[in-house]
Amino acid sequence: MRRVSIFGATGSIGQSTIDLIARAPQDYDVVALTGGQNIAQLAADAVRLGAQVAVTADENRLDDLRAALGQSGVKAAAGRAALLEAAAMPADWVMSAIVGAAGLAPGLIALQGGATLALANKESLVTAGPLLMATARASGARILPVDSEHSAIFQALVGEEISAVERIIITASGGAFRDWPMEKLAHATPAEAATHPNWDMGQRITIDSASMFNKALEVIETKEYFDIRAEQIEVLVHPQSMVHALVGFNDGALMAHLGAPDMRHAIGYALHYPQRRDLPVERLDLAALGTLEFRAPDEARYPALRLAREVMAAGGLSGAVFNAAKERALDGFIAGRIGFLQMADVVEAALAQMSSDGCHIDAEITLDNVHKTDQIARETADKIMARMG
Ligand code: NAD
Ligand code: MG
Repeated sequence: MRRVSIFGATGSIGQSTIDLIARAPQDYDVVALTGGQNIAQLAADAVRLGAQVAVTADENRLDDLRAALGQSGVKAAAGRAALLEAAAMPADWVMSAIVGAAGLAPGLIALQGGATLALANKESLVTAGPLLMATARASGARILPVDSEHSAIFQALVGEEISAVERIIITASGGAFRDWPMEKLAHATPAEAATHPNWDMGQRITIDSASMFNKALEVIETKEYFDIRAEQIEVLVHPQSMVHALVGFNDGALMAHLGAPDMRHAIGYALHYPQRRDLPVERLDLAALGTLEFRAPDEARYPALRLAREVMAAGGLSGAVFNAAKERALDGFIAGRIGFLQMADVVEAALAQMSSDGCHIDAEITLDNVHKTDQIARETADKIMARMG
């Protein structure tokens, strides 16, 4: 029996993970499930899977969680400290699927304990890539990527030397607005941005897909995880989302990974690694599909991609600034305080301001410094948005 924990169990990735685990309950000993406001879902899954503990990140919801767990025997806990305690419970495999920078610390703790970390929380690599990778090396724990693109790259690299890689191409669907004229984008609403043509995901990543901030995060994630140079990473718009990534080698060969747009591919690969097991995902019918399209992204339309390049060139804690400012800009957009195109303006201005302040970005990448920089970046982004409004 493998001991597994799922951080962010009530979210889109968390639920897909539970779907796979619940198909073979005899194989897993569920340690901790964590969630946020969706107490009913958290409690139902914890009881169904026989988890040792269920944790809500909201300390005010402890009584609700206790009530929902009833006499099941599952322990209830609430708040940030409880979440970190749950992350320290011994486990063999941990899914990191909290959204945002809040996912970093629990993942680090799981790695310190030696668990294999299935990493959906791309923000961990963007904000603190070198720290995360060094923590894994120090404890001998493995990080397995669960972003579809990064799982695809990982799979294309099996048996290969990273030194033979010339380039890595990650694909982007283009999100909800890929065919909208620029003039219309300024007035796009959060509801319009939160519908994805191909993938069914959480609200925040879906809006980030429309703005390409998601792809910007993923480019940085690629650099940090695979330890290659920024110039070796390319983005290709591929509306069908069937090819997830391609790895180009020094002999000119390109290895592509194809699959239906279903996160259970990447989750299942990380769950069963190094084996491959049957997964309940659609099989592609390429003849029925007929055509796969690719085109270069228009960087004028997607300033997030340019900003990602600047972040990679600056290094240090600029990823933490980028992510935190993006999270606040996204909050601002969802709340109707700024327009869709202004999200990139906020992030760019926050990066410029914090780079000129110097010290924040050059500080050593420790959890403490990431938190401090994250906090200052959020305040900086808030001030910038207040001036815009
Ligand atoms: P989601 O919004 O559906 O779920 C987020 C989960 O995190 C929920 O369980 C929520 O309760 C929890 N959470 C939110 N804020 C929290 C906080 N401050 N503290 C503790 N827990 C908190 O998100 P998602 O779409 O499942 O995405 C999760 C992560 O996986 C993100 O980092 C996202 O970028 C990444 N990812 C998602 C997909 C996808 O298909 N959904 C694909 C690739 C990568
Ligand atoms: Mg992805």
